[in-house]
Amino acid sequence: MPNSNQELSFFENVNRNFDRAAQFTSHPKGLLEQIKGCNSVYSFQFPVRTSKGFEVLHGWRVEHSYHKLPVKGGIRYSEMVNEDEVKALAALMTYKCAVVDVPFGGAKGAIKFNPRDYSQMDVELITRRYTSELIRKNYIGPGVDVPAPDYGSSSREMAWIADTYATFNPGKIDALACVTGKPVAEGGVRGRTEATGRGIFYGLREACENSEDMRRLGLTQGLAGKKVIVQGLGNVGYHAAKFCQEAGAVIVALAEYEGAIYNPKGLDVDAVANHRKETGSILGFPGATDITNSRQALELECEILIPAALEEQITKENASRIKAKIIAEGANGPTTADAEEILLQKGVMVIPDMYLNAGGVTVSYFEWLKNLSHVRFGRMDKRFEQSAFDRILRAVEESTGRPFSDFERSRIAKGPDEIDIVNSGLEETMTTAYNQIREILKSNSKIPDLRTAAFLSAINKIATAYIELGIFP
Ligand code: NAD
Repeated sequence: MPNSNQELSFFENVNRNFDRAAQFTSHPKGLLEQIKGCNSVYSFQFPVRTSKGFEVLHGWRVEHSYHKLPVKGGIRYSEMVNEDEVKALAALMTYKCAVVDVPFGGAKGAIKFNPRDYSQMDVELITRRYTSELIRKNYIGPGVDVPAPDYGSSSREMAWIADTYATFNPGKIDALACVTGKPVAEGGVRGRTEATGRGIFYGLREACENSEDMRRLGLTQGLAGKKVIVQGLGNVGYHAAKFCQEAGAVIVALAEYEGAIYNPKGLDVDAVANHRKETGSILGFPGATDITNSRQALELECEILIPAALEEQITKENASRIKAKIIAEGANGPTTADAEEILLQKGVMVIPDMYLNAGGVTVSYFEWLKNLSHVRFGRMDKRFEQSAFDRILRAVEESTGRPFSDFERSRIAKGPDEIDIVNSGLEETMTTAYNQIREILKSNSKIPDLRTAAFLSAINKIATAYIELGIFP
């Protein structure tokens, strides 16, 4: 349903972007319709007995595309969620996986409730009950459908889901691969928690390294020194802000739902996060100016704006007042189609969600591989590589006559840990995919923007799968 501004609904927005990109293909209409629609929508209600008494909650699991299996996508816990939103997010997952070459179809789930209104025991009960509903209809399983965290859910909930699935499937050796984003001790992979934020950083860094694009935007090359505003200091926003700050960007404003803070000299992300933990609010941070209307922070002076909270934050209402030259979409669907038209007319570069926040699903894919292989990355080869490096160092020492110090030796001759392998796989994925979509953009002057290029990349890859599988001629 269109929102109060009479803009398109979230799913209509996604489909409008799809249609815009589909014009640049010659795929038959039927194939495009098959790619675009949701293959299966499971909408259900389930009863729970929480500390508040008996309640009936509404849940969804939408499986958007079976061109690759399993399907994959997070579970959103929010009292604002609706079916249109879950369908839109499931579709975005399909395109996102295709853009970064993660071999999954897209899916998304949701439970309509606010976890903050419930005790931890209640949230556990609701999570386990929701999981059993998915099991009942075969909407979860390592080769079927693999959920992950999303807005309002975290590794804690993923552990409960894994445990519930394993309980209903005794002896199933791959049971842990039924969900990703688990705590490391429960089969999770190191680096998953920060993966989406880290991926945003890799993507932004790659974009800012391109001198031609930066010149067009009137910006200098490189991320260092650029003024950044981040909306949402949750998992995605916090890590994106932190990695950008570590790379030398200046975080001038942070916006949360209770308000925003601004300091043109820069905010220390960890100090702000600690302040919020201690006081319960982002406001009142020493040295910063409080902005009580949080949305206004999006319109402050900066070079990069990272919306990392929720969808539909940049609309036709505020788009013309946005000053950022680069919108780096951390959240899913933060920019409406109408707003994007305004931004593009102003010459703003929008790095689209379906590419930029794909770090989470990329590392989820690594976690799934780890669960199927039942071995930690690096366990088999770390020492082997270390001794190979060591032999090279010894040969260099012999030929030069100069011994390496213990510090140099430990730094150079170090085999990779799991986190090193995960981060390197993520960096490779994000930089390769950015250059793929940028090349598509540059290949045809009629392709207007990076989002259309990313959609085009996804549509062509999914179409190829359908054609090669013989489903479409
Ligand atoms: P989260 O729940 O950890 O964080 C969201 C943050 O946004 C919270 O701190 C919340 O208080 C804040 N927020 C809510 N409404 C706000 C408002 N109106 N203004 C400012 N701040 C507001 O969720 P997350 O996992 O960080 O997800 C954020 C977005 O990123 C969602 O759109 C999600 O779909 C998307 N995303 C998440 C992942 C992931 O790996 N977690 C991956 C891809 C995309």
